[in-house]
Amino acid sequence: MIIAIDGPAAAGKSTIARRLAAELGLAFLDTGAMYRAVAWAALDRDVPPSDAAGCARLARDLDLDFDAAGRILIDGKPGEPGIRSAEVDACVSQVSAHPEVRRAIVPKQREVAQRRGVVAEGRDIGTVVFPSADFKFFLVASAEERARRRAAQIGRPQEQAAIEAALRRRDELDSTRADSPLVRADDAELVETDGATAEQVVDRLLCRVRGGVL
Ligand code: C5P
Repeated sequence: MIIAIDGPAAAGKSTIARRLAAELGLAFLDTGAMYRAVAWAALDRDVPPSDAAGCARLARDLDLDFDAAGRILIDGKPGEPGIRSAEVDACVSQVSAHPEVRRAIVPKQREVAQRRGVVAEGRDIGTVVFPSADFKFFLVASAEERARRRAAQIGRPQEQAAIEAALRRRDELDSTRADSPLVRADDAELVETDGATAEQVVDRLLCRVRGGVL
């Protein structure tokens, strides 16, 4: 079984996907972590984010895998917390927009799903990576709510405004790129999460997947 969860930055996709995967006995696939790994490696090796060929080489050559908890391993080493830095946040959308990078990363995502069923989350899962996924959800929340949650999550509520500006910028870049932009698949169910707890959202998705009504 493949479940696709797409949506803008910090819409709660990872939390929801991780819990849903645990409930259903599926693997959790964080596709954003793979693009973050490439951006992190580019910063580490002085490859400019604008260098499509250089970034694509990294995307092809890095050994990207996941541990049992679904956390990314870059050449066998934990990618967290480096891939979540503000520096990576600032350049990952530029790196992921290169079609050559996506051409190297998407097959790796499909390979993971071939090994076992997955709940995959990202931007183009329901549209490009797994267009025939069994279930597709598109999670949304207002930019303000997303920034508030993210600021609380990292324990820096005073940075909410800056976080919101960064999220909006990333969403703009991700939605307007030519290759695999962030867009809701026609057959993906829109899930509004403003004011909902993660538990409520997971229950709603579980209900849907198990054949219940929303
Ligand atoms: O999901 P996350 O916020 O960690 O993703 C980081 C970035 O990776 C996104 O802003 C986007 O540029 C890129 N991404 C993508 N396609 C995906 C997942 C993430 O382009 N399927």
